[in-house]
Amino acid sequence: MSGQSLFPRLEPLLPRVRKPVQYVGGEGNSTVKPWEPAAVRWALMYPDAYEVGLPNQGIQILYEILNEQPDVLAERTYAVQPDLEALLREHAVPQFTVDAHRAVGDFDILGVSFSTELGYTNLLTALDLAGIPLLAADRTDEHPLVIAGGHAAFNPEPISDFLDAAVLGDGEQAALDITDVVRAFKAAGSPGGRRELLTRLARRRLVYVPAFFDVSYGADGAISAVTANRDDVPARPAKHTLGDLDSWPYPKAPLVPLAETVHERMSVEIFRGCTRGCRFCQAGMITRPVRERSLDTIGAMIDTGLTASGFSEVGLLSLSSADHSEIGELAKQLADRYEGTQTSLSLPSTRVDAFNVTLANEFSRNGRRSGLTFAPEGGSERLRKVINKMVSEEDLIRTVSTAYAQGWRQVKLYFMCGLPTETDEDILGIADLAREVIRAGRKASGHRDIRCTVSIGGFVPKSHTPFQWAGQASWEVTDQRLKLLRDTVRADREIARAVGFRYHDGRPGIIEGLLARGDRRVGRVIERVWREGGRFDGWSEHFSFERWEAAAAAELEPLGVSLDWFTTRERTEREVLPWDHLDSGLDRDWLWSDWQDALRESELDDCRWTPCYDCGVCPTMGSQIEIGPTQRKLLPISPVPPLPERKVEAGAGSAS
Ligand code: SF4
Repeated sequence: MSGQSLFPRLEPLLPRVRKPVQYVGGEGNSTVKPWEPAAVRWALMYPDAYEVGLPNQGIQILYEILNEQPDVLAERTYAVQPDLEALLREHAVPQFTVDAHRAVGDFDILGVSFSTELGYTNLLTALDLAGIPLLAADRTDEHPLVIAGGHAAFNPEPISDFLDAAVLGDGEQAALDITDVVRAFKAAGSPGGRRELLTRLARRRLVYVPAFFDVSYGADGAISAVTANRDDVPARPAKHTLGDLDSWPYPKAPLVPLAETVHERMSVEIFRGCTRGCRFCQAGMITRPVRERSLDTIGAMIDTGLTASGFSEVGLLSLSSADHSEIGELAKQLADRYEGTQTSLSLPSTRVDAFNVTLANEFSRNGRRSGLTFAPEGGSERLRKVINKMVSEEDLIRTVSTAYAQGWRQVKLYFMCGLPTETDEDILGIADLAREVIRAGRKASGHRDIRCTVSIGGFVPKSHTPFQWAGQASWEVTDQRLKLLRDTVRADREIARAVGFRYHDGRPGIIEGLLARGDRRVGRVIERVWREGGRFDGWSEHFSFERWEAAAAAELEPLGVSLDWFTTRERTEREVLPWDHLDSGLDRDWLWSDWQDALRESELDDCRWTPCYDCGVCPTMGSQIEIGPTQRKLLPISPVPPLPERKVEAGAGSAS
């Protein structure tokens, strides 16, 4: 029977798997609603393990917004680890939700949020375990609609064969609008089946339906055109942009995990979007324009969230939290409010300036001054101009000196390797910076036991950014440069023991690059990798470059393209990119001119404080930058009670 709990069949398997608690649900603030009265039922998936997926804000927000609707039911599902996958297959138990352990195949919609492309094989595992055909074309009216969202959905082409639809941009209002369409469609008896439902969703401009578009290729292997194959849907699906974030203060009741997760704190998003213009940053580009939450909404969200969850740590989230127009006032008022309590505050700190240290000092009033993170991203001033990260060496040294002088002992510096135009000299600039940082730290603090951690990630060009045309550095180049840098730091007796060095090899970045800028032909590579055992590709212990490389050779080369063709090849201005028909609001001509500016090492200011330079987002999306100062204040503090009981409504199915 539809909607029944699978727990009686799952429970006997759990003692045989690692971390069984990740599959039992029952977290603080989780919700189980009765199946029958619900008009629309969503299964929300984060395609990674529970410990990574549970804290995901996007899923938590949608879960709460949907469950607030009296006739809507939303439950969560995560990627099952290979040990449980084998047992589920052996005992014919399908993919299940963790809330009421219902079969994912019973729901109306499976919504999957992709933060990274390396979760694609986990989608296929979940579909297969759920009994949902991998290919959207093979699904019938009995199967849920499979809808992708999240940042990776801005180029869903590599997984388009597996998706019924994708939602671009902010999901809050879009999820409610999709629900309305599905509710009305079901109430009318589902006339015309799933194709008609998808047509209605596309016509309402809620989703992009890949099956409604045809892709043709030229003799050179590049796309010659992407065209809608019907004239009753928009030719250019567009992203959703939420105005007035104060009207959407979610999550109000953050989930409190029972098992260990990567973040154990509540997070409050203090603004969305970024106009700093870092050219490598897809998140900054696709979430424009900047929309701030006001101080009183942030204060109320923290108060409500702490009361509902019992968490003792609050993280203030955004792409660049120190850029909130009232961050100084916010930091001071929050520090005053929570001084002397058990509540600690944190700000993911990336901007390199002394003001950031002042903020960190405020936030550490209740705790230790352990580590501060700054992200210069590029090792040389020249490269930082290319990527539009306007940080001078003097800024960095002044900032870290301030930090060390004020009692911070650990500074972490984040860089990227493989950026466009990068040379060995740029990478060696990282060693020079680390040396100057250690010297400045020793001088400012009067101690020799100063530590600096240099953390390096491989750059992956992404869609809808000025670097979408760039050739990605090969993994051999990345590895050779990282080795050069490591050897240089180790050979420097002045700093060798003070500098910690963290990096990953270049191979996973090449596969991420294939998936990030791939087209529909890459879908067959994903499916082949999955059939050959590919799972959890974001985890180094599961990732196999050789498996991806072999699958790419087998599937792409007969079509006249290759792994290199999709990754290390620079694109021309005229080439049709796989995502050109998807509207992120950014003007393609502006992106190209910004790419040319990058090659000229020319920088661009933040349009929050300087005149608009016409990136296209505000007029195209009918949106605008929303920033303070509002002069509003935090609400008064209320006491933090213990963790609440789990909510279970009458008539709910068995959950555990
Ligand atoms: S349209 Fe102008 S103001 Fe709006 S985000 Fe782009 S550059 Fe900034």
